[in-house]
Amino acid sequence: MNIPLKAKLAYNTGHKLQYIPVPALKDNYIWVITNGCDAVVIDPGDAVSIIHFLQRHSLQLIAILLTHHHADHVDGVDLLIWMCGTDNPVPVYGPRSEAIQAITKPLMDKDKVWIEPLGLVLSVINVPGHTLGHIAYFSDISLDSVPHLLCGDTLFSSGCGRLFEGTPKQMLASLDALMTLPDTTEVHCAHEYTLSNIAFALKVEPDNEDLLIWHNQAQELRAAGVSTLPTTIGHEKKVNVFLRVHLSSIRQGLANKRHVYTIGRLETFTALREWKNVFR
Ligand SMILES: [Zn+2]
Repeated sequence: MNIPLKAKLAYNTGHKLQYIPVPALKDNYIWVITNGCDAVVIDPGDAVSIIHFLQRHSLQLIAILLTHHHADHVDGVDLLIWMCGTDNPVPVYGPRSEAIQAITKPLMDKDKVWIEPLGLVLSVINVPGHTLGHIAYFSDISLDSVPHLLCGDTLFSSGCGRLFEGTPKQMLASLDALMTLPDTTEVHCAHEYTLSNIAFALKVEPDNEDLLIWHNQAQELRAAGVSTLPTTIGHEKKVNVFLRVHLSSIRQGLANKRHVYTIGRLETFTALREWKNVFR
């Protein structure tokens, strides 16, 4: 990636960023990226929770990033912009192909977002499936060499988003694209769905030891009131059934529990997603 010089300078001068999940609505996380002074928020579906957070930590909102058009990801945008004043309006980045009126910086696949005060460069990745125009943001620069992914409702820990608009083929291709990112990539998902996703995954792969360990860890985290996120790409490859549709254990789970017999990855992914849609 061609990194702007100022971003490199910020990186070289010891500029550390924090990624903080702010709980909102029923089970959303509004992620805040901050250097302790300036802040970017991702998918503010609720203005009140994020305004309180910014005020409590004396953070200045400098940009809003959106992944897709659903109300629980965009409904706080107008109030946030109004709160920040109209003299120097906060830029709103989001997918060009989705109808979101507040967007002032429309984005397409492979576009770069440069947040200068944070020394942050994000690459846009098209990830259709949950919605048709859904995008994700990827940053491979940070002080601790950890890449970061903000993926909205595409990938969750041990699960993936429902297909409201796209096809299974589109979602599988989107997940495949995310799986090409480094295993160390920290994945910042937009919902705390981990325990319910694990409950389903254990029906599919009851003998997956990594999943059993993750179940215990996630239960402890939630019991302590702590987020199970971020996860990582490497971890999800071990505990996320939707990323494991090439394995015989997944086909076996479908055959044993649903009497569905699949052959290829797409057929297996489609059957798995249909099962999850009706799983309680
Ligand atoms: Zn959504």
